[in-house]
Amino acid sequence: MSIQFQIGATDGPARVGRLTIPHGVIETPVFMPVGTLASVKGVPQDVLEELGVEILLGNTYHLYLRPGIETIRRMGGLHGFMSWDRAILTDSGGFQVFSLNELRKVSEDGVTFRSHLDGSSHFFSPESAMEAQIGLGADIIMAFDECTEYPAERERARASMEMTLRWAERSKKYFEEHKNEVPWRTRYLSADREGKQVLRFAQDDNSDGGDRHYQTQSLFGIVQGGMDLELRRESALRTVEIGFPGYAIGGLSVGEPRELTREVVESTLEHLPADKPRYLMGVGTPEEISEYARMGVDMMDCVLPTRAARHGLLFTSEGKVSIKQARYTQDEGPLDPNCGCLVCRRYSRAYLRHLYASNELLGQVLNTIHNVTYYLDTMRAVRHAIQLGERARFLSEQSGPKP
Ligand SMILES: [Zn+2]
Repeated sequence: MSIQFQIGATDGPARVGRLTIPHGVIETPVFMPVGTLASVKGVPQDVLEELGVEILLGNTYHLYLRPGIETIRRMGGLHGFMSWDRAILTDSGGFQVFSLNELRKVSEDGVTFRSHLDGSSHFFSPESAMEAQIGLGADIIMAFDECTEYPAERERARASMEMTLRWAERSKKYFEEHKNEVPWRTRYLSADREGKQVLRFAQDDNSDGGDRHYQTQSLFGIVQGGMDLELRRESALRTVEIGFPGYAIGGLSVGEPRELTREVVESTLEHLPADKPRYLMGVGTPEEISEYARMGVDMMDCVLPTRAARHGLLFTSEGKVSIKQARYTQDEGPLDPNCGCLVCRRYSRAYLRHLYASNELLGQVLNTIHNVTYYLDTMRAVRHAIQLGERARFLSEQSGPKP
């Protein structure tokens, strides 16, 4: 089995689950930090392990342009290349092609686009996006989709949704024919749970205990349909009909008001199978990710915690902190008194403010470590609350009036 999803406690629509994929067992709902170019900017892999990151995200578009798929494939995929033995998910490249390319040309075949690095011309189709993601070797990969722009007329949203459905079928077909080509064959150095460097083996080598034998990647489908609830319903039902081991809700956080995002998520979730993982792509603030998890979303990713950290914007239990402000110049207190991360345990707000003001690299590193911890802790708290909710319901049923 390449993927298993077991649901534990539930509380209303929210659920706590265990997602078992070739490179790890992940407690859900989970937040996945974004490592666009095979790096969560500023944070080494051993620190990510220490923070408890179980799965991270790579961006196919960026890795395809630099260093190129073939380079990564030859080194055993992203796991070998970046020396990360835990789980990885890659996006299909579709979203970046649409968001970074004003000169893109979309046809039934696929998308022609220009590199944002050197202007060179490239082409992504459902087939080539699958080929790229198989070369990258993430545990979970995504079908090639068109991210419908916002706002869009209903007819435009429908046409885009129909094409995403056809692309989903083509993605699945290519994946089924090539999924044994995942490059998990190399030996690579990796830190074990105690932080010791060990040589690991993959797929074809039985010295791994054979655990990964016959395992491969899993391909998730993506629901589109713009902001139209009826189109979202149709997209969900027809994507489920094609059949995937997990489903993503795409095309959100594209400039629409937050209330609308929430409405689309809630109504789309109703049409996704309860026994499969549900992944909401590219959201949100700590409040939003915890709200979506309470609505029944299992997986989320967002560049916000890492990007904001590099700009000195920190999420804390006492609200947002803009560390550049002069009021922190003499502040000896920790960034967040309720955070146990290695930054809050050791450094003062005054020091973080100084690092930011003097543009020291360490400032970006420490800020990112705190923000990622804050997001992971937010999800831990949600999982705990769901478990408590179920227990409380069970107890109140036990102690209820006897018939
Ligand atoms: Zn902290």
